[in-house]
Amino acid sequence: MKKIWLSSPHMSKEKYEMKYINEAFDTNWIAPLGPNVDHFEQEMVDYLNGGFAIALNSGTSAIHMALKAANITKRDIVLVQSLTFSATVNPIIYEGAVPVFIDSDYKTWNMSPEYLEQALIKYPNAKAVIIVHLYGFSTDIDRIVELCKKYNVKLIEDAAESLGSKYKGKYTGTFGDFGVYSFNGNKIITTSGGGLLISKDFDRIQKVRYWSSQSKDVAKHYQHSELGYNYRMSNISAGIGRGQLKVLNRRIEKKRYIYNYYKKSLNEDDVFDFMPLNEWDEPNYWLSCALVKKEINPIKIIIELEKHNIEARPIWKPMHLQPYFEKYDFIGGGISEDLFTRGICFPSDTKLQDNELEFIVKIIKKAIKDV
Ligand SMILES: *Cc1c(COP(=O)(O)O)cnc(C)c1O
Repeated sequence: MKKIWLSSPHMSKEKYEMKYINEAFDTNWIAPLGPNVDHFEQEMVDYLNGGFAIALNSGTSAIHMALKAANITKRDIVLVQSLTFSATVNPIIYEGAVPVFIDSDYKTWNMSPEYLEQALIKYPNAKAVIIVHLYGFSTDIDRIVELCKKYNVKLIEDAAESLGSKYKGKYTGTFGDFGVYSFNGNKIITTSGGGLLISKDFDRIQKVRYWSSQSKDVAKHYQHSELGYNYRMSNISAGIGRGQLKVLNRRIEKKRYIYNYYKKSLNEDDVFDFMPLNEWDEPNYWLSCALVKKEINPIKIIIELEKHNIEARPIWKPMHLQPYFEKYDFIGGGISEDLFTRGICFPSDTKLQDNELEFIVKIIKKAIKDV
């Protein structure tokens, strides 16, 4: 049987992406920067209903640039969700700043506002907060925004997994001072690799434009008065992104279908608690995830699926439990650890057919019976 992926690239059946790639090819715009990049930035801003955007070569570089744009520097404290992918946190270290990890809550699986406030009290000099909307489901953004205002810290939204998800009718990534999206191959749409930074602050985005193309001052010779980075998106990648953006809503529809399929089919087994859908949520359903009852080890299910060439995964291992990051402070209890221990991400590829979903569910049911 062919491999079934957790989430993998899915080009449009109309081949919109090819049209933009061909334009780039025919005009020799095979470069970082070019008309596709300019259009892609504008089309993303139009989709997200406002702000200013810069396309970059990864979500990780977008987080890095967001931190710099928020004036984060050596020894600054950044409060960050512990339950996430390491790319949320690594750029804090690039800048010599200090992460403090915040636990999740069961209501959202994302940053707990209660623990965040404890951290803001313990670290009155904290400069920024990074929240994540895991698997496309948003955190309780209003409460976090309120706390960031009260304690005067910048808010960065890592919306790498939640492009197209809405909180109270408004797109995730557009609430903070800076919002970050990723177009890595596993995300809901891809540019083969890429990222985007969005903000309402035009000047900060222009500053990122300067840093991310080697900090070239205005001069005939190459003149640099600041440290530079080579972080821009290529014109080919942006062409793929333009085509993918046209089918984003279709992809969200399919992801929702997959989530509901699993929920409906596995409900009767009384083994899984699916990632909660809160009253404010219109998720993009990037991955369908659930917790298993204590007696069952999700790894067993993952291994069983693997035997049939089907990819499933545990929930992210929290950063405060990672060997590289365990020396940093953690504010919380055992919630993200429990989510990690009991969590499973089911295959959520938008190319999945009904017969494949049926087969996957059959394997899962068998795996939970055998324990
Ligand atoms: C994918 C991802 C990133 C990183 O994006 P890249 O484009 O792969 O650099 C950051 N944060 C989260 C939560 C992600 O899932």
